[in-house]
Formats: sequence, C-alpha cells, structure tokens
Amino acid sequence: MAEHYKPVKYKAWEMTLKERFQEFYPPLSEREAITEANRCLYCYDAPCLTACPTHIDIPTFIKKIATGNVKGSAKTILESNLMGATCARVCPVQELCEGACVLNDEHKPIAIGRLQRYATDYAIQRDFKFFKKGKPNGKKVAVIGAGPAGLSCAGELAKQGFDVTCYEKKPLAGGLDTYGIVVFREPIEVSLREVKMIEDLGVNIKTNVEIGKDIKLEELVDQYDAVFISIGLGAVPQMEIPGENIPGVLDGLEFIEETKTMPLDQIKFGKRVAVIGAGNTAIDAATISRRLGAERVMMVYRRSEAEMPAYHFEYEFALGEGVSFMFLTQPIAVIGDKQVEGLKCVRMDLGEPDASGRRAPVPIPNSEFVIDCDMVIKAIGQKKYTGFMDALAKLGIGSVKGYIKIDLKTNRTDHPKIFAGGDCVRSQGEASTVMAVQDGKIAAQAITAQLVGEAAKKQPVSASVR
Ligand SMILES: Cc1cc2nc3c(=O)[nH]c(=O)nc-3n(C[C@H](O)[C@H](O)[C@H](O)COP(=O)(O)OP(=O)(O)OC[C@H]3O[C@@H](n4cnc5c(N)ncnc54)[C@H](O)[C@@H]3O)c2cc1C
Ligand code: SF4
Repeated sequence: MAEHYKPVKYKAWEMTLKERFQEFYPPLSEREAITEANRCLYCYDAPCLTACPTHIDIPTFIKKIATGNVKGSAKTILESNLMGATCARVCPVQELCEGACVLNDEHKPIAIGRLQRYATDYAIQRDFKFFKKGKPNGKKVAVIGAGPAGLSCAGELAKQGFDVTCYEKKPLAGGLDTYGIVVFREPIEVSLREVKMIEDLGVNIKTNVEIGKDIKLEELVDQYDAVFISIGLGAVPQMEIPGENIPGVLDGLEFIEETKTMPLDQIKFGKRVAVIGAGNTAIDAATISRRLGAERVMMVYRRSEAEMPAYHFEYEFALGEGVSFMFLTQPIAVIGDKQVEGLKCVRMDLGEPDASGRRAPVPIPNSEFVIDCDMVIKAIGQKKYTGFMDALAKLGIGSVKGYIKIDLKTNRTDHPKIFAGGDCVRSQGEASTVMAVQDGKIAAQAITAQLVGEAAKKQPVSASVR
C-alpha cells in the first residue's frame, strides 16, 4: 500500500499517558492573574462585552481580579453565564471576546478566557454559593436534555422560583461538556461541578430518562406549564460506503467519550489512524489518537483547507500535535476483512458552489488511491433526531433544515408552551457552548415573562449578538 505520510517526532512521547491528558493550559498563578488583569484598559463601551454572546461584564470581572476580589469576580461572571468555568476553557475566544479586545491592534489581547477560568475555579474549589432558589412562584417547567443549554435554562428558572425538572437520557448530566469536549481542554470534573451548582439551586435532574422513549413528550406538555427542549444533536451519521462496519471503524463521538469515562490505558487505538472530517469532532478524535499513542494520524477531508469547519486555532493545534491533513480527498471504501487495512479514497476538485454556498467537491476520474491505516474514525458531523422532530411536527412545531424552528427573540417554538435552544435549533452559524448557554438564558427569560410577567424584566437579554 502506498505511503502517504511519515511518522512525526512528537514531544508528548516524553510524557506519561496521564500527563498527556491533563489540561493543556495550566491554571494562572495569583501573580500571573493579577499582572494580566492589570493590562486591561477597562474600556468604556468595552467591545469584548458585546462580543461575548452571554454579555459577561468582562471589564468589571477583570478589575475585581486586579484588586484581589476574586470571589466577586466569579460572581460577576456567573451572574451572566452559569457555565462560566466551562466557557472559560472551550470558548473560541479568538473569534469572540479576545478577538474584540482593543489591545489586539498594539500588542496582544487580554487573556480573558484564562482570567475567567482563574476566577471561576477559585469560586468552585471553595464551593461558594452565589445564588439561591427564588421564592416559589407555583409554576413547573420541564427541561429535556441536560447539556449547557438545558442547564443554563434550568438554573436561571430556578433563580426565578420555578419548580424545574430536567430529564437527561445519559447516566451523567452536562451534555457534550461532560462527554464530548476533550479532556485536555475540559476535565469531566469541571462539567460535573457545574451540574452540581445547578442542582444546588433546587433543579431536579433525572438522568437515564429519555423523553420520547421512557416518557412521551405530550405527557410533559400536559403536566408542565412550559417545556424547554435542548436535546442537542445525535451520533455521527453513516458514511454509506462499503466496509463501514468492519471492526476498527469507530464513531468519533464515542471514541472521545471513552477518553472521558474510561481508564486511559484501556482505550483501544490504532497505530495508523485515518480520521474522516475536518470539524470539532474530527480534530479532537485526531489529537486524542496522537496522545493515546498513534504513530500516524491523517485527517481526510473532501473539501479544501479554506472550507474546513474547524477554527484556525484548532487546525494549528492539530498540526502541532503531529496530525497530517489530506484535503480534497473523498473516502469511497474501507478495506479489510476482520480488521481495517486501509481507506480507499478518490481525489477531488472544487466545482460550482453547492446549497451551502461553498464550492462543491467533484471527483477527479481515475485518481483512486489507498491510505494505509488500521483504524478509521468517522467524524462527519452529527445526526438530527428525526424521531423527535416527527413528534414535534405532530404538535404543530415547524423545522428549518431539520432543526427546531424558533422565534429568535424568545426561543419559543410554534407551540405556545414549548421553547427550544442549543444545537437542536442552530440551523445557521457556529454551534458552541456559549451560544447554547445564551439560548437557555433567553428562553428562561421568555418563559418567566410568559408565566409570571414583570419579574422577567429584571435582567434584559439582548438577542442581537447571538
Ligand atoms: C467533539 C465536540 C467538540 C466540541 N468542542 C467545542 C469547543 O471546544 N468549544 C465550543 O464552544 N463548542 C464545542 N462544541 C460544541 C458544543 O459542545 C455544543 O455546541 C454544545 O454542547 C451544545 O449544547 P446543547 O445543550 O445544545 O447540547 P448537548 O451538549 O449535546 O446536550 C444535549 C443533551 O440532551 C440529551 N438528550 C438528547 N436527547 C434526549 C432525550 N430525548 N431525552 C433526554 N435527554 C436527551 C443528551 O444526552 C445531552 O446530554 C463541540 C462539539 C463536539 C461534538
Ligand atoms: S463566556 Fe466565552 S466569549 Fe464570553 S467572556 Fe467568557 S470566554 Fe469570552
């Protein structure tokens, strides 16, 4: 079989397996945090604040760090974003708050994400409780899915005095923060501590309960005053190519989940891995493979570098981890019998723009070749929950490209009692944790306005920069 890539010398080999899966960025020390905080100009009309989808008062939380009031800083952050510790780690800050920092022009932006992590970790480690359940208002809300959108909505509603029950089909709450974000970006403990914070607000989280299977959606609609749907998206879809079921072909999300829930030395990995796709999941599956010990990891993507969905910093991170990229390459079959032996591909060219507005990849005749590999990881996006969408359609709720249709100002669906947010509504724009958190906030405010009126107006939420 043809050789398409060479083993890359990789500094992480010098670390133990455990060290390779520790958080990539170490926490800031007190001195580092204060020094960084003192670089902030505390701009009037700070652009970072507008660029943050949850509108955290960034200059204020940074000022509090600079003056030694770390507890107060954490409170400022969590008032706007209950998942502040997760967002501090996973937000694409270059595109959001830090990208808007005025210091980009002269030197380098304030490390807002790392300062946010410093303050929120300080508070969480000391188990400070900044918020408490509001005075009961007699209304009940069901939240379906305990990812960042669901937890944010549940927590904000609990603060307003709602009786909130959150139904989660997995054994642990937290959604992709718990199961999907690579452990060297966000350890599972960070997500679980945020889950506990929401439970401490009086939210009843029922895990291992799948709505649509264990309980009918209609039952919740009958029993509760409002329902918030935040089910995210499903598994990686089939590629529909021969050989897809040969042992050694893995689902990228399941592979990432193993690294968050299993002892690292029990996870099976290939020596020569081909990862199909070029988004979040693909980059994470590729870098994990390297850190587990794969000698060669090749990412295979049918479009060009310019069209890849991963952020540029993620691409650079993967390159730094020794991952190779093969663009304009379409897999057409997995080769092997009892085990993967290779990935047959065809070279592509870019043609006219397709429905997504990107130039469509077109196969180049007679350009087939085989990538030598013993594991193939599929990471070509996530499926939508079509069964759930059918149930919603029966309740008169519309969809946009397979996502739940909502009113962008309130996150309400076509049904007056049903709201939705997070990845399951993101028919356009980048899906991200911070956007899911903001959806939860907007829905919580709209539900409050609808069910108990005036109280909702206390904390206006702008939908303009979502
Ligand atoms: C591999 C990967 C890496 C990512 N990395 C980043 C990153 O670095 N930064 C970033 O900002 N974003 C990242 N994202 C995107 C981010 O994780 C999502 O945008 C975010 O988690 C969406 O939140 P959510 O609450 O809508 O959905 P989810 O986090 O998917 O949560 C949905 C929850 O609903 C549950 N559920 C589903 N159906 C049912 C049902 N019928 N009944 C009960 N429960 C149900 C699920 O089990 C899940 O817990 C990444 C995504 C992936 C896949
Ligand atoms: S939540 Fe994310 S975008 Fe907002 S300030 Fe924090 S790191 Fe930046």
